[in-house]
Amino acid sequence: MSNPVSCAVGNLSTSAMKLDHLCRIANNAQTHVSYATRFPKPEVVVAFVDSALSELFEVQFNIVTVPMVHAAGICEYTKLTPEEFGLLGSFLGVVQQRALVLNSELRAEDFEHNATPHCLFSRGREKEDVATIVERLFVCDSCYEFYRCLGLEQETEALKKVIEFVEYQRIDRSLHRRSRAKGTGERT
Ligand SMILES: [Zn+2]
Repeated sequence: MSNPVSCAVGNLSTSAMKLDHLCRIANNAQTHVSYATRFPKPEVVVAFVDSALSELFEVQFNIVTVPMVHAAGICEYTKLTPEEFGLLGSFLGVVQQRALVLNSELRAEDFEHNATPHCLFSRGREKEDVATIVERLFVCDSCYEFYRCLGLEQETEALKKVIEFVEYQRIDRSLHRRSRAKGTGERT
């Protein structure tokens, strides 16, 4: 096992996301990428911003930008917390950033992906499509294969764990909500 990838996160957005909570769930879900608000020399920097990008993330050099402007609405629709939404967007970006670090000949068009398979890595969407894609929490086999072929076995395994973790949290909350609703129903 190699050392974890150091990922420094900063919230430049007005979203209700709590950075310490985001780091906690990111590091609980997987161990390959270490999230913290501070690193002396981070390998990746994640910035949560208020811009209206239609993508879940954008990568430039060692900076992953995650747009949070529609996060509240998307979270309400998909039943995710802002931290889980931030974790998903940032982790997808970190995987792509690692691919670029390991493979300097990669170009932006190598990451092009049409929206039809509802994969989290698909590009060029409207806000509604982002919500639909996040609701499904799915990464297609060809994306996993693409990143594995680029030497990112550990990143793809970590991404699967992140997706499983977020899905598990969402199911757990919905079961709690249901049992609470049932409890109230029985009392009345
Ligand atoms: Zn895909």
